[in-house]
Parts: sequence; structure tokens; C-alpha cells
Amino acid sequence: MVLRMVRQKISLLINNGLVVTLDPEMRVIDNGYLAIDEDRIVDIGKGDGKDRYVAEKVIDAGKGIILPGLLNAHTHLYGILLRASPWFSKIEPPTDFHQNLQRIWWVLDVLLRHEDAYASALIGSIELVKSGVTMFLDTYSGPNSIAGVLDYIEKGIREVGLKALISFEATQRRSLREGFEGLAENERFIRKNNRDKSNPVRGLFCLHASFTVKDELFKKARELASKYGALLTIHAEEGMIDVMHNIERYGLRPIERMEKLGFLGNDVILAHVVHVTREELSIIAKSGTHVAHNAMSNMLNAVGVAPVPEMIELGINVGIGNDGYVFDQFENMRTTYLLHKVSKRDPRVLAPIDVIMMSTINVARMFHMEKQLGSLERGKKADIVIIKPNELPTPLTTNTVYGHISNRSSSKDVDTVLVNGEIVLENRKLTKLDEAKAREYIHRVVERLWDRLESSGKYQLDVLEL
Ligand SMILES: [Zn+2]
Repeated sequence: MVLRMVRQKISLLINNGLVVTLDPEMRVIDNGYLAIDEDRIVDIGKGDGKDRYVAEKVIDAGKGIILPGLLNAHTHLYGILLRASPWFSKIEPPTDFHQNLQRIWWVLDVLLRHEDAYASALIGSIELVKSGVTMFLDTYSGPNSIAGVLDYIEKGIREVGLKALISFEATQRRSLREGFEGLAENERFIRKNNRDKSNPVRGLFCLHASFTVKDELFKKARELASKYGALLTIHAEEGMIDVMHNIERYGLRPIERMEKLGFLGNDVILAHVVHVTREELSIIAKSGTHVAHNAMSNMLNAVGVAPVPEMIELGINVGIGNDGYVFDQFENMRTTYLLHKVSKRDPRVLAPIDVIMMSTINVARMFHMEKQLGSLERGKKADIVIIKPNELPTPLTTNTVYGHISNRSSSKDVDTVLVNGEIVLENRKLTKLDEAKAREYIHRVVERLWDRLESSGKYQLDVLEL
């Protein structure tokens, strides 16, 4: 008598792919399968999985790569609204980072309305999901559109089907009160969305940068984050203005000031950290604070090169963001991979796997979600990307897959994306949203914003005397 194994019923089986797990053993499984039931991964193995599972739906990965959903550590969805804007040709080009804020971003953000926040959330999420991103951290700046704006951003993200941590970027550059209003919007959103941990879009607290906030706001943000168990993020030492301002006013460098205020910790994500000293890096490492690295944005703004290899050496957890610039996560990974080699003039700096980890498990750790995201493991959320590279120049094997991802993969290869076991992108098409219609709407909103920019064009010259 032949005993037949009873096959388990599941909702989805993905097979015929090279499974890059990034699990603690760093298994890469050739001709592997992933069994998914509802929103979770129930099994990963070799073969087609059909001898063990009966699935409602089977996805053939076509001998492509099955990866954990990519995670973006720092973005500004509204940054995409200025892509290729003709307005750039009308302004005097900034010569440094501070002028960049004064002439571009602080002129734009005062003009932003709720419709811009919503439109940018739609198009930013579309671009991100098409590059394999399943979750990201966004901070919004708009002094004249504070109250309620996070609901508009949430709506856009949910309509595409992604997950995110979102926040309003509190700043006191125009008035002290405005900083507290920014934090109040974060608090409102966190009270609404964070109680349910399974909510796809939740809040965190955000301060713009230490040169635009006073100590009181630092303390208030810290107090609120601890009260709600929410994360905190801030731009740190992106440009020299941040460093000089803090030394002049406080006799301390930004990281030293944050340490003195008791701001740092395992729930804090610092964006950029370019002009940091060795001593400050030690403070970051000891406090367990995380760093979001934005190589392409740093290059665009010509601010310098963050000492990422030194951070890694000190055990600082580093993730990759795009800072609202290029929304293709593969391009950001590749730029990170290359930038530090040329900067150190040492090709050994950063291996392909380093930048892959910096877009997956490292970011999951900084989001305090490493038990759910960042790798393909039994029990984790089914946030998955299927890459189908076309016409590979060299064979795709368990030994070559990391090199293919870091050196060649692009958003064009992203075929299918799942979030919580739900297909949000299939054959490169969005499943939850009419993309053509959405793009028409977004273009109309952007045209209105660009018209307002044309008729504004005023420099925001001064930071309030802080
Ligand atoms: Zn930023």
C-alpha cells in the first residue's frame, strides 16, 4: 500500500524561482518554492511545492529571483513633484546645501496643499512598488498644510497597496509654534493609526534638523515618541549649516547636542550623517541609533560622502533611502555600492550583499519590524518581490545572484510584488489602482503646483533666530 501525504491547503504558491532568503543562514535556494497562506509565509523549500501544497493560486516565477520586499529607509514623497520642473531654469542655482533649501525646498513646501500631498503619495508609491519596494519611511514638509495632511498621504499609499511609516517634519524655521503644530499632527496620526500594529500605514515623529529646532522641541518629540512607543527621525549633518549652527549656538556638534538632550536611542533614525566625526560615530553606535543613507541625494546636493564603511565597522545599522530623489531602489543600492569604493579608492569597500541587506533586513531592524519583514522566513509577512531579469549576460545561479542584483537589476526587471500576501503588482501592472487615470490626475495637480511656483519664486532666506 502506498501512503500518500495529505497536501496542505494554502492561498498561494510561488515556484520555479531562485529564492534569496536573507535568513540567518543566508540560504539561496535554486528551483525553490514559497508557500503562503493569507498574509504569511508558511514554508520555503526546494522543488515546485506541489507535492506538499494545494494552492488557490500558483505563480510561476519563470526562473527569476524571489526576494524579500525591498524597504526604503528615508524618502520625501513630495520631492517627486519637482521632477524635471521647468522652474529650475528660472532660479539662480544654489551654490550650497543651505541655499538649496532656501531657493528650492522652502519655496516649494509653503505652497503645498493637501492635494499635492495626496498626488505625491500616489505617484511616489507607484514608482516605489515598481522598483520592488513594499514599505518605506516618508516625511512630509508643508507649513501651510499641516493639520490632517497625513491622512491624505495615507490614502495615496493605501490605494497603491504599500506599507509605510509616515510623519510631518516639524520645524521652527518660521515660527516656534509651527514646530509644535507639526508634532501635534504626528501625534494625531499616531493615535489614529498606531494602536493597531497590523495597520499598513502608521506614524512616527519627525523633526526637520537640529539647525531648525530648539531644545524644547527636541525634548517634546522625545517625550512623545517614548509615550507612544513610536519611532523618531531627523536629518543630521547633511550640510555644513547644521554643524556650524550647532557649534555657534550651543558649542556642540549636532550629534553631541542630541546626546546631551537624551534624544538618541534604538528608536531613532538619523538621515544622512555626512559631516560626522569619529567621536560622534561612537555616540551613534553606543546609543544603538540607526542611520538612513541617501547616496544619490547626497551626490545631487554635492554635500559630501557619508562614512558608511566606518559606520558598518562600528556596528551601526545602516539602511538605504532615496531622500525624495530617484525612486528606483535598485539605482540607490547600486550608487551606494559604487560611491564608497570611489570615495575610499578601494574596490573592496562594500560587497553586493551589503547593499542588499541595507535595503531589506537592516531597514526592517530600524523599523523595529525584523520579526515580520526583511527576509523570507517561515512566519514572516508575505512581502515579496519577483524579479524576472531579461536576457542575462551571464548565468543566474546561487553563487551569482547577489552580483546580478547589485550590478545589473533595475526596476524594469520587477515583475510581481506582494504585500501581506496580496498581489499589488502583477506582470508590471498595478492591481489595485487604474494607473493611467491616476497619472492624469497627478499631472493636473502638478501643473497647478508649478503654476503657483512660477508666480511665487520668492527665496526663503532666513532661518529663524534659534
Ligand atoms: Zn530627507
